[in-house]
Amino acid sequence: MQITPNGHEPIVSPRIVVPGDKLNILGLDRAELKAAIAEIGVPEKQVKMRSSQVWHWVYHRGVTSFDDMSNVSKDVRAKLAEHFIIERPEIVEAQYSNDGTRKYLIRFADGNEAETVYIPEEDRGTLCISSQVGCTLNCKFCHTGTMRLVRNLTAAEIVAQMMIARDDLGEWESPTEGRRVTNIVMMGMGEPLYNFDNVKKALEIVMDEEGIQLSRRRITLSTSGVVPHMERCGQEIGVNLAVSLHAVRDDVRSEIMPINKKYGLDEVLKACANYPGAHNARRITFEYAMLKGVNDSDADARELVRLIRKYKLPAKVNLIPFNPWPGTVYECSEWDQIQRFSDIVYEGGISAPIRTPRGRDIMAACGQLKSASEKKSKAQLEREAAAAVSAEPHHTSTGLT
Ligand code: SAH
Ligand code: SF4
Repeated sequence: MQITPNGHEPIVSPRIVVPGDKLNILGLDRAELKAAIAEIGVPEKQVKMRSSQVWHWVYHRGVTSFDDMSNVSKDVRAKLAEHFIIERPEIVEAQYSNDGTRKYLIRFADGNEAETVYIPEEDRGTLCISSQVGCTLNCKFCHTGTMRLVRNLTAAEIVAQMMIARDDLGEWESPTEGRRVTNIVMMGMGEPLYNFDNVKKALEIVMDEEGIQLSRRRITLSTSGVVPHMERCGQEIGVNLAVSLHAVRDDVRSEIMPINKKYGLDEVLKACANYPGAHNARRITFEYAMLKGVNDSDADARELVRLIRKYKLPAKVNLIPFNPWPGTVYECSEWDQIQRFSDIVYEGGISAPIRTPRGRDIMAACGQLKSASEKKSKAQLEREAAAAVSAEPHHTSTGLT
């Protein structure tokens, strides 16, 4: 297991299978599904066929009941239902923004929560998926980084975010044409490369040709620059890479992104240059949050161009106007300055669009994701503290009477 730079070790909560409990097959990979089906006594000769039928129903058709699996024989259906369930985690809250953005707050079996955001655009619909509850990396400008609790999501919990969005958007009937979720970005809560195995397993399920069939070209994984896993990501998962750059000098980057003390700019940019599959038609995206007076000068823009040229990177830059959150010390750069920054990078021959923040009214924009349970738990603590204070005189008076 990877130890994160600040020493925290996010853990995956194991799937708890109490004897007598039914196993949730959502999130099993093909081999695991086959093994599970063999184990419940489906005749050996049928195991391969039955598991591909079940796979198709679960991931291609989105069914949640074995009764609906019409091409599976009745006795096998009964056996499956006796031992298994197909269950999504609970949606605690679904918020719909007036710009079409949808945010889902999802509660997992152990009570932890994470957020998933759907962003419709003219030519695509992007689902922003979380890989962890919270994040250990504590980037100073990121709301998720302020969460105390961190744990890795299981592959099942990552896949379930896609299932939930497709349920809500009602698109199981049209799996490849006229899709609403056309793209996935691993840009929700958490650092996906610190949860490599589960993210890989989940994306393989999503890309499976007999399941959801999303092409790897339509999936982008965003990392804060976990250098040792970047190459593996290209080799083993093969998705597009986005890197949270946010600064062009080590002193500034280390100040706002503590991971830079472990993997500095030079290492990160070299890993980008070596990213398998990156070329001009499939460029690496650098994310750059515009922080007033911190990383947004003309000189920073020129340095960004110089670095991209120096490392010969097939890259584009996404300029993200900083999204403020309660308690942050940063401010978003002035609009004129963002525009100037973008122009300088464009003049250097590199595409640098300014991202329009989406779903601001429901706090769904980049870096604003932070589960309500944590906000609630603080409120809860305050309530408890208040209750304890008001309880004291009550006890005293009881004692007196
Ligand atoms: N942990 C991964 C992916 C999740 S964050 C990573 O850091 O790359 C998605 C993007 O939003 C990252 O580029 C992140 O740096 C950026 N971001 C975080 N907080 C932000 C904020 N308040 N305003 C704008 N962008 C922010
Ligand atoms: Fe974690 Fe990414 Fe936020 Fe940094 S920006 S704290 S790596 S989620």
